[in-house]
Amino acid sequence: MKEVILNHPMIKHKISILRNEKTGTKEFRELVSEIAMLLCYEALKDAKTEKVDVTTPMAKTKCERVDENNYAFVPILRAGMGMVDGVLKLMPNAKIGHIGLYRNEETLEPVRYYCKLPENIKKKEVILLDPMLATGGSGSAAITMLKKDGVKKIKFLCVIAAPVGIERIKKDHPDVEIFCAQLDDKLNDIGYIVPGLGDAGDRIYGTK
Ligand code: URA
Repeated sequence: MKEVILNHPMIKHKISILRNEKTGTKEFRELVSEIAMLLCYEALKDAKTEKVDVTTPMAKTKCERVDENNYAFVPILRAGMGMVDGVLKLMPNAKIGHIGLYRNEETLEPVRYYCKLPENIKKKEVILLDPMLATGGSGSAAITMLKKDGVKKIKFLCVIAAPVGIERIKKDHPDVEIFCAQLDDKLNDIGYIVPGLGDAGDRIYGTK
């Protein structure tokens, strides 16, 4: 499955502000949310529609609707939460699950500390949210957890990805489609994306 990189001037524009170390918490949060909505718009391009009859003030007509019940958004805590507002603007009735992972400092492997998913998750398409796809370790572990719960269709939305993270997801989960706003150069030796935007969670919540 080929990853989709949003190559749009307005995405580039928004990311230039997001990357700037001088951008404050409020604007950073708003931009993450707006970019998440645009990513989700692209990811839902293949959404199935059903015909419905609608009466306008002028006439009866046939329209098409998406059944929002078929979708769930799952942010990876904590930075993924910053994308929820934006995706809900597009699909306000989708259900939300949460996955929390931390990294074991010895094995460097992600360990689950929280997982609460909507009922009937196996029948829904899951849109997984994490603004930074760095090593791909957390993303891959979250996808494995969703698959263990029976989820068949998963899309992964991220704001910035490192090539190594994309390769990891493609290798571990070739069936998962990745939607990324911008692809960066590399990771530094502590696993941060360069040039990146720093720690997305800290910038969203103003914790540093
Ligand atoms: N997580 C972040 O918040 N930033 C990075 O650059 C990598 C992982």
